Amino acid sequence: MKLAPHIPIPEKEPVIAKIPEVPMAGLDTLWLQIGGTVCNLTCTHCFISCTPQNHNHPLMTLAQVRQHLEESKHLGIKDYYITGGEVFLNPELLEIYEAILAYGPCTSLTNGMLISKEKAQALAELQARSKNKLHFRVSLDSLDEKENDAIRGRNCFKLALRGMRYLAEAGFPTHLTMVRSWDEDDDPAMETKALAFMREHGVPNPQVKFLPGFLLGELAENEREYHPNERVTEQCFENFPITNLQCSSSRMVTAKGVYVCPILIEEEPARMGDTVEETLRPFPLYHSACYTCRVSGMSCKS
Ligand code: SF4
Ligand code: SF4
Repeated sequence: MKLAPHIPIPEKEPVIAKIPEVPMAGLDTLWLQIGGTVCNLTCTHCFISCTPQNHNHPLMTLAQVRQHLEESKHLGIKDYYITGGEVFLNPELLEIYEAILAYGPCTSLTNGMLISKEKAQALAELQARSKNKLHFRVSLDSLDEKENDAIRGRNCFKLALRGMRYLAEAGFPTHLTMVRSWDEDDDPAMETKALAFMREHGVPNPQVKFLPGFLLGELAENEREYHPNERVTEQCFENFPITNLQCSSSRMVTAKGVYVCPILIEEEPARMGDTVEETLRPFPLYHSACYTCRVSGMSCKS
């Protein structure tokens, strides 16, 4: 995985005195970890080390989802995102979609492998009954089958493409999400290649989104951990608006409470409360993952 370019941080200054706080500028996005940390895959770069056996964050129930939707409906949320783990492992997925669509548009992050023709058709029927839109983001990590499957597992390439095709046939425009394994400067060329690749594979009107690798979970095990000086300081935000960070406008709901963002759900200090409303306060950017967000200008949103 390629990490974003290094920005100089003075090593001699005491880091503890320099931790900036990100303000809550206005909540517009709510994430829901409905797949918990349970996944049918074991990708070598998974920053929350999801596996079929990892129930550290359990699947969210429909009742939990409904409770958070209802208690946060007056907070100005415009977009809902669901992720995991793998969202298609949640047995209440269709009912969860229905519940979310009553409040706003919903984007799903998925590895695409469990999407059957019948499920895609059921989603299309759900979409036909709602004024709010369903969107899907399917992950691959290379346009080369061998390279992709070395990271994500056997047959992932074929099955993810099959899932994308079923979604396309059911009328859903689909995003391809890839964790960057090339230089950021090569993003435009990669985007052109990825869009052409999706059209060749029967996905009309495709879009792509590239994400940086976070040195957490499996990627920390398989590549390296963050260096001690990979931290943000106040100086990091002299020429970069801190409110560009997604944690300035979103929160992550899980079965275990509400966290600052989708990246830090395994970090106890990132658990900000039981309800979304009580988490609408500044958050200290103490974690090295914040450095990746800063240098890559990263947002998990589409
Ligand atoms: S990266 Fe995504 S698909 Fe891979 S193990 Fe993690 S949650 Fe599952
Ligand atoms: S990891 Fe990124 S999104 Fe999460 S708190 Fe840090 S800067 Fe914000």
